[in-house]
Amino acid sequence: MNDHEDMERTEHHPFERNKGMLVVISGFSGSGKGTLMKQLMENYDYYSLSISATTRAPRPGEQEGREYFFVSRERFMEMIQNDELLEYAKYVDNYYGTPRSYVEQEMARGKDVILEIEMQGALKIKAKYPESVLVFITPPTVEELIARLRKRGTETEDVIRKRLEKAAMEAEGIEAYDYILVNDNLDKTAKHLNYLIQDQHMRVRSQIAFLERIRKELRVNYAYMNQ
Ligand code: 5GP
Repeated sequence: MNDHEDMERTEHHPFERNKGMLVVISGFSGSGKGTLMKQLMENYDYYSLSISATTRAPRPGEQEGREYFFVSRERFMEMIQNDELLEYAKYVDNYYGTPRSYVEQEMARGKDVILEIEMQGALKIKAKYPESVLVFITPPTVEELIARLRKRGTETEDVIRKRLEKAAMEAEGIEAYDYILVNDNLDKTAKHLNYLIQDQHMRVRSQIAFLERIRKELRVNYAYMNQ
């Protein structure tokens, strides 16, 4: 598919972008979802990626404020106390949470905000925001998953084992998600993900303002023709 077709596909609906959507992306550690998010942000300008706060140490190459806000446990607890987090969860010995203010600000600007978070957080978001869309990303096979975790080279075998154990647990909860996407090819999966999200704007319940306008115009025209 070329860029032109891609644009047509995403801009074919006439709806106003009054308020953005909340999109939750989860996937097994090693599903390639981080790279997928980068691709999505580079290709389309109507998304904003939420940067989480975490108590885990930065991996080599990670930058403060780009991958995460790296905070102390004390600061994280303070954020919880002050209601600064939209949701948070403990994942393999560390805390991760979504700062509230950025998400609210970006949605108000009409951006679709992407939260790349794990399953417990995803479920909390769905409970608070039933209109949010939950997408689960998976590699084609478990063999591929293990290979990707090893290739990363930044985790010890013990951490890899813990992440696989976590993946096995998470696999039991995927039914709570709205969509599952197999990440077998980065470009293709990024395009699919974009279609999937943009098509959500066509849900009737996302377009109440548009519907109201059409109804009003119909009434006005009908009244005019009956004069
Ligand atoms: P990692 O340490 O590999 O960067 O992330 C571990 C897990 O934490 C991933 O599944 C990631 O999606 C999740 N995660 C990252 N930020 C957040 C967050 O703000 N909230 C929750 N609930 N999970 C998060």
